[in-house]
Amino acid sequence: MTTESQPVPPEQEEHSRAMVVFAHPDDADWGCSGTVAKWCRLGWEVVYVMCTDGSKGTEDRSLTATQLSQIRKQEQTDAGRVLGLKSIEFLDFPDGYLEPTITLRREIVRVIRKHRPHILITTNPTRDLSHSNYIGHPDHFAAGEAALSAVFPSARDHLWDESLLSQGLDSWKVHEVWVMMFGEGSSHWNALEEEDVEKAIGAIKSHASQLDEPENVDKWMRRWRSENGKNIDAPFAEGFKRFQLVPGFTPDDDENQGDDEDSD
Ligand SMILES: [Zn+2]
Repeated sequence: MTTESQPVPPEQEEHSRAMVVFAHPDDADWGCSGTVAKWCRLGWEVVYVMCTDGSKGTEDRSLTATQLSQIRKQEQTDAGRVLGLKSIEFLDFPDGYLEPTITLRREIVRVIRKHRPHILITTNPTRDLSHSNYIGHPDHFAAGEAALSAVFPSARDHLWDESLLSQGLDSWKVHEVWVMMFGEGSSHWNALEEEDVEKAIGAIKSHASQLDEPENVDKWMRRWRSENGKNIDAPFAEGFKRFQLVPGFTPDDDENQGDDEDSD
């Protein structure tokens, strides 16, 4: 029995809060916006944490870094509205200079403790050398590494930064971490409905400053999600490397129960 003096331990709660930590506007919307749309559809609170100010990604010589940052933050805000996010935390580290420092980690711990997500999604902290046309962006590795280190051990340990504790930001155990994998290397495929993919496409189209071929977005967004869906006999899916950090916790996501057992 649970009484008011004995609150339900976090590991026995149903999943209902998620956070996505990434470097630049559009990173999350390429990698996991279908999953985010689905969770928002199910009534979850989802918060985006954008580590950089998005001030470098353009070939347009007429734009200053400040102007670009403003445009891209607005685009991310618009995309968030399409998906139904609760909020976006803009950490505002300079784009192109992100490193997994203690300063960055502390800011991520701060937002984890503030929003207390059950599941945290982030970018791959390692450089993937398996492609011949893409070597990855160092900001993506930095955001992923800082996010994982924030989850464990820093958000969990109340003594890690007592100044956070004194601000009322108590320790928090994130239950699961999902690393965006775009398919290859995934241990978990999250099934999506058509409406989730449509919202994901709407979110990506909000990032107009980054789209050289907007007419192809629909095709790109559907292609790898439908390929991933074949792994679990679903119309669409997004692939993740999934880590369950609180033993015995069962996610409140019935559609995924069947494939949990053969995850690594
Ligand atoms: Zn990026």
